[in-house]
Order: sequence, then structure tokens, then C-alpha cells
Amino acid sequence: MLLAKDGIFPITKDKNGNPLPLLPASGLPFAGTIQGEGKLCGIPSLFVRVAGCNLHCCWQSVDGKTAPCDTTYAAYQIEQTLSLPIEDICAILLQNSDTIRHIVLTGGEPLLQAKELTTLCQLLKKNRNFHFTLETNATLFNRELAECIDLFSLSPKLSSSHTTSFRPSVPRLNPVCIQYYIQYARQCQKDFQLKFVYACEEDITEIRELLSGLQGWQNEDILLMPLGGTPEMMRTNAQKTLEYCLRNGWRYCDRLHISLFGDRIGV
Ligand code: SF4
Repeated sequence: MLLAKDGIFPITKDKNGNPLPLLPASGLPFAGTIQGEGKLCGIPSLFVRVAGCNLHCCWQSVDGKTAPCDTTYAAYQIEQTLSLPIEDICAILLQNSDTIRHIVLTGGEPLLQAKELTTLCQLLKKNRNFHFTLETNATLFNRELAECIDLFSLSPKLSSSHTTSFRPSVPRLNPVCIQYYIQYARQCQKDFQLKFVYACEEDITEIRELLSGLQGWQNEDILLMPLGGTPEMMRTNAQKTLEYCLRNGWRYCDRLHISLFGDRIGV
């Protein structure tokens, strides 16, 4: 499987259980971090970050500053990828998950490696009853992978993300695909969240329009997160984000990992 440079994080042991020579980016002498965003915010977790994305996002905030995707190194300016056999990824996760039950599959866009991730989840589930979160831009769906997932974290990209698609056949926003995830989650007693980035007022109109065409969601499934890969930029957008959450009954979504660790890769 092709992983981003932070690949599996934060970890302290290799696939055989031997200590790694360096501390993880968290600076802590043990594995794991917290999920920083969404319904499971604060839950101890391990992350698997795949390399590659089918979209190319770059936001512009109200003060005119541009904010590229916070994982460009994994998405479209790919650096130093790790190619690892699925069995090794499984072994590393098992060695580093003493007290951790939550694994987050993220990217880039994980659905581009759906087959490999399905095998990984199946292998892991055979060993332990892990909870899997899939973080996706919700332009693609894969039934086999979906069967392994407990929480679908859907982050549809709005016009303000200035997103272009690397595959013209895959649009930036795919309401049919989003609806499919919601329906599937409801039918299979799994959970989902729709997580939007707030960059400007027009986002709110677009979110309302999108939601009016979707069925099966409730206000608590809708999350609004301030644009910002740094604490400063988040502060700029936090007040408006909060205001729109309260006015619409949506959840405010923090980025707790940035408050705790700063703008760092691998936490
Ligand atoms: S879809 Fe997500 S990972 Fe891909 S470029 Fe956009 S923000 Fe980055």
C-alpha cells in the first residue's frame, strides 16, 4: 500500500515490537494521539494516512489569505511516500495499539486504495475488535470497504475550496455519493458525519442547498469547522463558524490536535 510520509502515526514500535530510534512527532514516549475533529474528538487513536488524492483543494479565507489542503504532502504535492506490504502495516498497528481501539483511515483520499484498505481492515478485525473511521471527500464509494467501517467522516468540498478534480469524471461535489453513504450508514447501523470547512458566507448557502437535497441526516450529523491549518487562522474564522453553527443547529467542529500539538505532521 502506498502511504504518505507520516504513514502510520504516532508509533513507537516497529512491526516486530522493537522500539523505534526516534520519538513520534507527538513528542510522547508512547504510541497514539487523539482524534482532533468530529464526533469522536478526543478519542485515543492511531492514524493510517494513504498517499494520493483525486481532488486538489486550495481555500481562500475572508481576509484574502490562501490555505491549501492541510496535507498537500499526502494529496497532490506528494513527498517521500512509504510503500509497505499490508501485513506489515497490520503488524505495526497491532504492536502500537495496547490501549487504543480506534483506527482512522485518512489521506489524501483513502478510497483510491479501497481494495488494500479493505484487506487491512479485515486482517485487523481478525486480531482485535477495532473501530474504524474512514475520512473521505465523499466523491467515491466502495461497498467492501464500507462494510469494515464504523464511522464515515464525509468532507464534501464546497466552491470556496477552489477544488479541481484530477479525474474529470469525478466531480468535486457528488451529492449522489454522499446520499449513498448516509443511506448505507443508516441501513447498517453505522454512524456518519458531514464535515464542512467554513471559509466564507457563501459556504453556508451552499451547505443549506446541499442538505435540502439530502435525506436521512439530523442536525447533530452536520459539523462546521473553521478554515485554518494554524491556530491563528482558525481563530480568524472561529467566531463566524460558531455563529453559523448556533443559527443552524449544527455542531461546531474544533481541530483539537492543532490546539494541543500545533501545526505539525504526524500528530
Ligand atoms: S480532498 Fe482532502 S486530501 Fe484531497 S486535496 Fe482536498 S483537502 Fe486535501
